[in-house]
Amino acid sequence: MNTKIHQYIDDHANEMVDVLSTLVAIPSVKGEPEGDMPFGKEPAKALWKMLEICENYGFTVKNHENYVGTIDMYTDKETQLGVLCHLDVVPEGTTGWVNPPYQLTLSDGKLYGRGSSDDKGPAVAVLFALRAIKESGIELSKNVRLLVGTDEECGSSDLRYYRAKEALPPYVFTPDATYPVINLEKGRISGKFIKTIAAGSEKTIVSVKGGVAVNAVPEKATAVVKGFTADELDAVKAALPEDITMDIEITGDTAMLTVNGKAAHASAPQTGKNSVTALMKVIGTMQTDDESAAFFASIAKIFAYGESNGESMGIKAQDEKSGALTFVFSMIDYENGAFSSAFDIRFPICECVASVRAKIENTIATVGLDMTDFKGVEPHYVDENSDFIKTLLSVYTDFTGEEGKCLAIGGGTYVHGIEGGVAFGAEFIGEDNHVHGANEYISLEKFILNAKIFAEAILRICG
Ligand SMILES: [Zn+2]
Repeated sequence: MNTKIHQYIDDHANEMVDVLSTLVAIPSVKGEPEGDMPFGKEPAKALWKMLEICENYGFTVKNHENYVGTIDMYTDKETQLGVLCHLDVVPEGTTGWVNPPYQLTLSDGKLYGRGSSDDKGPAVAVLFALRAIKESGIELSKNVRLLVGTDEECGSSDLRYYRAKEALPPYVFTPDATYPVINLEKGRISGKFIKTIAAGSEKTIVSVKGGVAVNAVPEKATAVVKGFTADELDAVKAALPEDITMDIEITGDTAMLTVNGKAAHASAPQTGKNSVTALMKVIGTMQTDDESAAFFASIAKIFAYGESNGESMGIKAQDEKSGALTFVFSMIDYENGAFSSAFDIRFPICECVASVRAKIENTIATVGLDMTDFKGVEPHYVDENSDFIKTLLSVYTDFTGEEGKCLAIGGGTYVHGIEGGVAFGAEFIGEDNHVHGANEYISLEKFILNAKIFAEAILRICG
């Protein structure tokens, strides 16, 4: 490893913090388009500031219509590596910040501020890796390009715009996730199931509500039922799964059933308890004098409580590299016969969108459901035996002393769909930088270590 580069980075730690501080001070949350600023003024300001700083350091910069900025080490060499970061941030939220979110604050060795970890900190670490190489007088044989986008948090339209006009380098990594290397991201499907049934009699299920986000296991679900005696309501408790709780509140001839489950991210549903599927199981056992209870009984069979692998949906799939498919019935909205629900599926690389879709359609036809708002994204996978990945893993091991191995995840990163693209850093294993939450931070030590790791990776790939 190159000690001269490490020395340069250590000597410039204060300057790194200053640059990060300048970027964090710009609240680059997506806004309404304004003139030639597709994501509003603040993300564009963050981009201009970053490019101005990089240009002052002697790099060749280009602003691609305020979508993406590029920073090149050389303009007369073939580009071998792209490092992809973003300068937009998610909103600060309302509560829980100890320090002002847009004022970088060093406390107990940690740099607090929105974007410090996701993803302004890593972008600054890459910039100082480039600068250390340049200022140490090292001449690389190939060009490295830092790309900074401004719409990662809201669907990466920045990158789609850029890719429509510019080619990406053969190798791309993004320090916008975790170490060591993420080379597999499951495919993803979301959509809605709908149906209208005959309902509205004296003894009926009036409404069912639950879930707050399509990509989360719903924590709470409620049903309003009408025309049941206290004894009948007491009897339905027998159908409640043992590991979840339900409250019943009776008002006149109506009752409100509330199931309290446990929320979890849709990429790890087995860690949650689905309040909606538990509630459907319960109301499916009631005797109504319209179709409502029978309808919930029929769908509770395919959206089975306690099951996260989609087996009852007929979509169970698994492979060694990706793990198992996950299925989450995440939101429900039923009222007076009109049923609508949302779901989230993460599927392994042995499957594809069309095949999973066909299986879903087969199963829902048996209970008369229709599907709308269907969205599908194929899995993303890069061979772990490629020289590129082996190089990144060796750099990781050399710095941390830990075995460098590839990770498969259920979520998607900035490189999803970029051929050969992987995530590399910048969060370390076992660390929680409160990304997207209050008190987001990057430790000063890891901020500096990231710059050294990126410099070494660039040297080995472009050297
Ligand atoms: Zn990010």
